[in-house]
Amino acid sequence: MGGRILRGGAFKPRTSPYSFQGLGHEGLEILRTVADEYGLYVVTEALGVEQLPLVAEYSDIIQIGSRNMQHYPLLWAAGETGKPVLLKRGFMSTIDEWLKAAEHIISRGNERIILCERGIRTFETATRNTLDVNAIAFVKQTTPFPVLADPSHGTGRADLVVAGARAAVAAGADGLLVEFHHNPEEALSDAEQALPLSSLPRFRSEIEAIAQAMKRGLA
Ligand code: PEP
Ligand code: MN
Repeated sequence: MGGRILRGGAFKPRTSPYSFQGLGHEGLEILRTVADEYGLYVVTEALGVEQLPLVAEYSDIIQIGSRNMQHYPLLWAAGETGKPVLLKRGFMSTIDEWLKAAEHIISRGNERIILCERGIRTFETATRNTLDVNAIAFVKQTTPFPVLADPSHGTGRADLVVAGARAAVAAGADGLLVEFHHNPEEALSDAEQALPLSSLPRFRSEIEAIAQAMKRGLA
């Protein structure tokens, strides 16, 4: 379906310590094995500095999650790996704080940064987060970095993910980070926002129409 990168959480930052915390090292092995089988890159999150060597060994891109966007020692350590870094925007962070976080990575000699808008906390409660489409257009215009949008966390609702994805592409996003599951009801994390894998072809065609209108293709 044109996906280039497999993203999954092996070390998961869960709000509740009683929720599924990820499979850790075993999860990294699964991600790497499956990605290699299908010719995909792996992006996965490092929660702490101590995990970086292991995460870097198994992944092609290191994810810094929203909760860790201002964890400066982690940003420095990710910069030092020399690997591309997917820097998710803090859900309570301004665009300026986000870009300063990117500069912390750059301060260690690594400019291979991918920005990811994943929604911010607002007064709205109907959706989990508010996908900040302004921010996508803003960072596309003012930074040299590729920009991804995450309409899964940005909306938190499976029935809104396509709309969020379309808006992101229309605002200039270079790519999308979308959560799929073979059976969303059974997903151990963020089940409410996961799309069934069977909907991937339709998802792709719905996004492709917007990408073409924007004179951009899909991978
Ligand atoms: C995730 O990517 O699954 C994740 C935990 O996202 P965020 O850091 O944006 O909450
Ligand atoms: Mn998640």
